[in-house]
Amino acid sequence: MEGGDKEVEMDGNEMESVRERLKEKKRIVVKIGSSSLTHRETGDMDYIRMEKLVRELSDIRNQGKEVILVTSGAIAAGKNAVNLRDIRVDSQTESLAVKQACAAVGQARLMMTYQKLFAEYNQVAAQILMTKNTIVDNLNRYNAHNTFSELLKMGAIPVVNENDTVATYEIGIGDNDTLSAIVAALVEADLLILLSDIDGLYTDDPRTNPDARFIEQVDRLTEEFMEMGKASTGSSIGTGGMNTKLTAAKIATSSNVDMVIANSRDIGVLHRILAAEKEGTLFVAHQDENFDLPYFVGSLHM
Ligand code: GLU
Repeated sequence: MEGGDKEVEMDGNEMESVRERLKEKKRIVVKIGSSSLTHRETGDMDYIRMEKLVRELSDIRNQGKEVILVTSGAIAAGKNAVNLRDIRVDSQTESLAVKQACAAVGQARLMMTYQKLFAEYNQVAAQILMTKNTIVDNLNRYNAHNTFSELLKMGAIPVVNENDTVATYEIGIGDNDTLSAIVAALVEADLLILLSDIDGLYTDDPRTNPDARFIEQVDRLTEEFMEMGKASTGSSIGTGGMNTKLTAAKIATSSNVDMVIANSRDIGVLHRILAAEKEGTLFVAHQDENFDLPYFVGSLHM
């Protein structure tokens, strides 16, 4: 642990006991981003990485835990399928319709791959596509909650993405870091794991500042921490930077969900996190009675 005592309020033993409780987690949401699912050189799907992810999740499921996967990659997969890979979907010149069309192609491909891989490990995968309205609208939220509950009862693995094909700026959540925390809050998960192309939270961007220190545990998500997220991961694929990860941490911890950010370089990190090994940055849950999920989601991008 390199973080100074300014960042953490707990002593070493207390921190270890917080890590230990990760062994007991029963309902786990795992988020993986586009940059972790595609090859940097070509933008094509990284099937080996996907397969490892599915195998890990299937094994966690086989341990009797409930698993929900929040996955990006629809737009990336769609762009490649229709040979638009060199066009950045987040550039201003590209129309929303192109992005949405790519998502329509790509989401089907993405799900086809997950179905196939999960079936190989004898798991049932179920697709759930959401927008902001799924949470803001009371009836939609109630229905979505019930659907998740039934799927988990059936032993299925919900595979969630934003419904990019219909979600415009106004009704879009915008990034899957935030989406995964919203899902974790909605289903009353006890752990959210964000798999990313970074090791966790640093005091500054480690690629530009050699003095940036790694933070192993965040006990309280103060304004000081929220400020650290202003720099992005710099990834050109996907939409999540550190800022969105800290928004996710806010939603998760306020909703009583512990959250870990870890590097997806080695997917085996999932097992190590659940074995309470010191991987990534752990954000400790502190339920905030004043946190109102529908209100928070409704005010995104306003
Ligand atoms: N929903 C988008 C996709 O599947 C990705 C959003 C994100 O990466 O945060 O392509």
